[in-house]
Amino acid sequence: MLLLEEKIRKEGQVLPGNILKVGSFLNHQIDVDLLDKMGEEIHRLYGQSGVTKILTIEASGIAIACMAARHFGVPVVFAKKSQSRNIGGEVYSVKVESFTHKKVYDVVVAGEFLSAEDRVLIVDDFLANGKALLGLVDLVRQAGAQVLGAAIAIEKGFQGGGDLVRSLGVRVESLAIIEQMDGGEIRFR
Ligand code: 5GP
Repeated sequence: MLLLEEKIRKEGQVLPGNILKVGSFLNHQIDVDLLDKMGEEIHRLYGQSGVTKILTIEASGIAIACMAARHFGVPVVFAKKSQSRNIGGEVYSVKVESFTHKKVYDVVVAGEFLSAEDRVLIVDDFLANGKALLGLVDLVRQAGAQVLGAAIAIEKGFQGGGDLVRSLGVRVESLAIIEQMDGGEIRFR
């Protein structure tokens, strides 16, 4: 998505450790107009797939997921990264190692919000090694629901997570794929 690539080029900052900082429009401040267009593009990609629910993970996936959900007319469920004691009842749970924080989180979704009838689109802000996405796929499958695919804002292609998940037969569509960002210069696939 050209508009997103231009925004990344203009405002993205490459930090040590292969981290791209996009706090000015996605991870801290939110460019609502840009995210609305990203939501529209996600709907163009998956609009014919019969999505009944969008699943994301807190926190930064939520805004994109909501913008996409407006076009699909379906609810957003966000998996919680916590030891939440207030969820109660049946929960689906998976351990996910965070790329940015190097911590292992229990990621949970309450049983009442995902069911075997659901056809789920997974949305997230970044795809690096694929741990978060594989965790979300696992949660959907625990519910007996179907994973239709994933829509990712920014995939760092050089970290291999996207190719790994695709090789497992999951459709992954990324709005921007970074091929290389060594030395701070960003090249897209
Ligand atoms: P993965 O699990 O694919 O290794 O990493 C994906 C998760 O880590 C995303 O949910 C995102 O929150 C975070 N992440 C990975 N790489 C980056 C990055 O370069 N910049 C930012 N802001 N977050 C990232």
